[in-house]
Amino acid sequence: MINCGVKSGSIANFEAIQSINMICLFLIAGSVFYALQWGVFNYYPLMVLSLMFSINYSFCFVWMRIGKPNYAAYHCLISAIVHFSVYSIVIFNRDAGYQWFLIAIIPASFLMIPSASRWHHVAFSLVAMLVIIVSETGIYGAPIYTFPAELRTLSILIEGLFLVIGLNLTMQICNHSIDKYQSKLVALGQKDELTDIANRRFFMSSIKQLAQKEQSNYFILTLDLDHFKKLNDQYGHAVGDQALINVANTINTIIPNGSLLARLGGEEFAILLYSDTRDHAIAISNNIRVAIAEHSITTSKGEKVNCTTSIGISPLTLDFSASMQLSDKALYQAKEKGRNCVVFLNNIPVQAENNEYKN
Ligand code: GH3
Ligand code: MG
Ligand code: MG
Repeated sequence: MINCGVKSGSIANFEAIQSINMICLFLIAGSVFYALQWGVFNYYPLMVLSLMFSINYSFCFVWMRIGKPNYAAYHCLISAIVHFSVYSIVIFNRDAGYQWFLIAIIPASFLMIPSASRWHHVAFSLVAMLVIIVSETGIYGAPIYTFPAELRTLSILIEGLFLVIGLNLTMQICNHSIDKYQSKLVALGQKDELTDIANRRFFMSSIKQLAQKEQSNYFILTLDLDHFKKLNDQYGHAVGDQALINVANTINTIIPNGSLLARLGGEEFAILLYSDTRDHAIAISNNIRVAIAEHSITTSKGEKVNCTTSIGISPLTLDFSASMQLSDKALYQAKEKGRNCVVFLNNIPVQAENNEYKN
């Protein structure tokens, strides 16, 4: 079957959760790495401080687990601001360069809490900038530790590495989100919301494309449910909707691979049917007709509701709109002949090839 459907859901939330996971993991990894570095160079209080920060970041996963991703995002962003400001102002002086990590707070706040108001993002950006300015201008005096000279080159390299990896990850997440949004939008434009099958637009563009390269093994079926208005009037619109979903599901289990089912609108469906021969295509159409008539739905009151369908069928030709019209004409004839039947029409020669099938 030609597939065009995607499952719905909040992509913005999904992407934000992915960003929080990635950024938290990145911060935990960075803190553990720095803890190791301080341990190797015998700065044990700093090692403990780094480990404490890594434990603090891991609390974000607890927020995520209890279904509060926004809390996780705020926890992570505020912790990162405290972390880097403690490093860059209180412990080391500006030479250490930790303050520059705070630039990453700006894209991170957008990625992690996309639903927040713009003032949240502005606040995070301002705090990050303020810490950078304070530590750069050296307003805060005497740090507890001066930055160890022996670690200077190594630390600059590590910081550079972390920033490059961090920015790359951020770009990757952004690109991934954009790709997902694009494919989601494309899929939404191709899908019928109620039945989750292709819509008219996707169906027409598919037959147009197919007609240009390969027509011989394809047939166009147009289906219209019989007396559907009565069904709606008798059982209500909600039951009618259920019947439409039921019809779509029933047809999907019957049509062969390479076929496409679409809802043209209302209680009208169309199928681009893949079949080697005309007789086989007609046989499948009849199977569909019988299956729809047999597959009933049960209402909340326990009533069994059945509906039947009339089907028009014609071969796909290079002139796909003429094929569509012919199939429509066949459907009209099926209705005329009393409904719940299949009518096949072939344009050449019209009289000789016309057939009507009814069980
Ligand atoms: P016929 O056998 O001649 O096709 O009769 P019909 O009653 O099916 O045809 P008609 O065009 O008079 O009515 C179509 C009905 O389909 C009218 C409308 O209430 C119903 N319908 C259209 N779209 C929907 C939908 O999305 N949900 C439901 N429940 N009903 C729909
Ligand atoms: Mg109709
Ligand atoms: Mg109808």
